[in-house]
Amino acid sequence: MTTKQPVLIVGAGLAGLSCAVRLDRADIPYRILEKSDAVGGRMRTDSVDGFRLDRGFQVLLTAYPEAKNVLDYDALNLHAFRAGAMIRKDGRFHRLSDPFRHPSEALSTLFADVGSFADKTRILGLRRDLRRTASQVRSHRLTGQSTAGALKKDWGFSSEMVEAFFRPFIGGITLDPELKSDRAFFEFVMDMFSEGDAAFPAGGMQAIPEQLAASLNPEWIHLEAAVASMPDARTLILEDGTRMEGEPIVIATDMTSANGLDPEIDRRAWNGTTCVYFDAPSAPLDMPVLMLNGSGTGRINNVVVPSVVAPGYAPEGRHLVAVSLFDTLRSEDGDAFDGLLAELREWFGAEVDDWRYLRTYHIPQALPSQEAGTRVLDAVCARLTEHGHIVCGDHLTTSSINGALASGRVAAEIVMAKEAVA
Ligand SMILES: Cc1cc2nc3c(=O)[nH]c(=O)nc-3n(C[C@H](O)[C@H](O)[C@H](O)COP(=O)(O)OP(=O)(O)OC[C@H]3O[C@@H](n4cnc5c(N)ncnc54)[C@H](O)[C@@H]3O)c2cc1C
Repeated sequence: MTTKQPVLIVGAGLAGLSCAVRLDRADIPYRILEKSDAVGGRMRTDSVDGFRLDRGFQVLLTAYPEAKNVLDYDALNLHAFRAGAMIRKDGRFHRLSDPFRHPSEALSTLFADVGSFADKTRILGLRRDLRRTASQVRSHRLTGQSTAGALKKDWGFSSEMVEAFFRPFIGGITLDPELKSDRAFFEFVMDMFSEGDAAFPAGGMQAIPEQLAASLNPEWIHLEAAVASMPDARTLILEDGTRMEGEPIVIATDMTSANGLDPEIDRRAWNGTTCVYFDAPSAPLDMPVLMLNGSGTGRINNVVVPSVVAPGYAPEGRHLVAVSLFDTLRSEDGDAFDGLLAELREWFGAEVDDWRYLRTYHIPQALPSQEAGTRVLDAVCARLTEHGHIVCGDHLTTSSINGALASGRVAAEIVMAKEAVA
């Protein structure tokens, strides 16, 4: 199949790359225009003093159906977290393990001081329900009901269980501490957690977009090529004044940039986060597990030690500690930073004084809000606008690695369908 002109893809995040991978397989020429200095978009990893710092803590859920199709997990050399979590509550840690994956720990889980016995059995019921309705969940059909509402009203969880477990766990994933996200996203994420692992690639999260880019023609990926405007459906103008023609143009940018290029594309609120990294001489917890704040106070949402999960995250003999906050702390705010250190000392004691601060990532635009009642396309995760552009990205579906990959693939399928009728 040939086209008169290449498809122009704006943005080399997961959606743009996934679109290009699909076009590449169909022998359709394309060019990717990316404003940044590397591929990956919101999934980038920096090297600092031998540490790998992901730009914000994030994980790949290995059960993601689209990721399974498009990524080579073996080549990514994935390192998995242990299922479950350590919950910080009443001044100590409580282990909440997944009784299906770690049956020997089932009893300690059922009697851990987080939620009631009935809450633990409800978790098992929730898991069963999600497995039964998995295909429906994956269609991302929005319900209009918030996660908090569903947890309390439909599944009957106690307020304590919601506060101590679901708020830091699911709220930390959707970056939505009030659990306002549509329950469809919660069900999708829970189903993915129960079906597979949360994992880091050995080389950091940016290894995921890099793997996609490695299968593309490098001469067709243009970095530091910011698109300034699109005067019509086939033309775009770069910030340096270069004019390019393509057919069609795929807008695979983040939501706010997409709206700037084509105002027909909806813009919603963003959920933000802050991730603070430290270099530690020893791991504060020598277990590949997520540590959640279930106390209902403080600014910490979760703490992980990526180097315990995937040793390549830190140089030999050191450990990397990642502290994620719900709010958007700025490193230059000294008082807030001292407050954070005091909170970390409460969690881990005086060893925190031996930690060396590495870097803070302040990310106010991390995930498009998925609040119940907001308009997000149902099931179809890419579309054609009235201006003739094809648009894709995580803002059109679940704000996730899976959503972005699926959206890019569907955008390519729209391109191919247009070609077939042309
Ligand atoms: C802190 C954080 C934590 C997360 N945690 C998880 C998690 O645990 N699990 C999970 O599944 N997902 C997680 N996500 C979400 C996931 O990373 C995103 O959904 C996904 O990376 C979005 O990909 P995208 O291609 O849609 O958009 P983006 O990654 O935003 O890519 C858009 C690209 O377009 C480029 N661009 C923008 N404007 C222009 C322009 N004018 N010209 C040229 N290029 C332009 C940008 O530079 C960017 O490279 C997290 C995200 C963040 C930030």
